[in-house]
Amino acid sequence: MSKIIKTEAIVLRKINYSESSLIVSLFTKSNGKISAILKGGRRPNSKLSSVVDLLNHIQVIIYKKESRDIQVISSADLYSYFPNIKSDFTKTTYAYAVCELVNDVYMEGEVNELMFNGLVRILNLMNNQEENSAILFIKFFIFFLKEIGYELNLELCKICSKELSIELKPVPFGNEGFICLSCQSEHKIQKINESELFNFLSCLKNRKKLNYVNDKLIESAIKFLLNYLRNHLENFKGLQSLEINHNYSGGIKNV
Ligand SMILES: [Zn+2]
Repeated sequence: MSKIIKTEAIVLRKINYSESSLIVSLFTKSNGKISAILKGGRRPNSKLSSVVDLLNHIQVIIYKKESRDIQVISSADLYSYFPNIKSDFTKTTYAYAVCELVNDVYMEGEVNELMFNGLVRILNLMNNQEENSAILFIKFFIFFLKEIGYELNLELCKICSKELSIELKPVPFGNEGFICLSCQSEHKIQKINESELFNFLSCLKNRKKLNYVNDKLIESAIKFLLNYLRNHLENFKGLQSLEINHNYSGGIKNV
């Protein structure tokens, strides 16, 4: 017996299948990640192919059978296709990176409505605002880590568990977290100026206003987060979407 599901979804990934069809990975509001086929989706006259397109926020009707790995899309309607993201190379890069992150880490059928809402929200922010899309990506990454159970610890020193603050000039310790000034001298760790990274991540995590940012800081924050996730998830290999982009902030030096 197949079940009919009507739900909101974001299209995370799209691949061609056979001469005429598409297989997509959807993150749905009610059923988590679902792989589904859009039959005839590659035909030029397909009405649904532009709806069921990468990044799009859609409402979809799916025939779902537990015994099947790939479900069947019966119809779909568009909420948003995020035109401002798609017309901007940097925004597209980070929006794809957000989708790739969710697609890589989430298992089929793992439901998380908060994650779905976060995904829709970040794509809308990237689409609507002048806000730096690299910084939005980092904000999403911090939220994402929390939701998958690996919350980034910026509160306590990784070695002595002392409460961290900007005055203690915390620096990264391995790929695990940050350590305080006294642990740095005890362990002879000298990373002058790297406490900027702590301030930056801490501001984003705690929704404080950023006073200063540059490409290098954005780059090191993204590297740190990717390594941090890799440290927790052996199978996570990094994000291909980011490998082609070397201009992290899209030219914006200050926010
Ligand atoms: Zn310490």
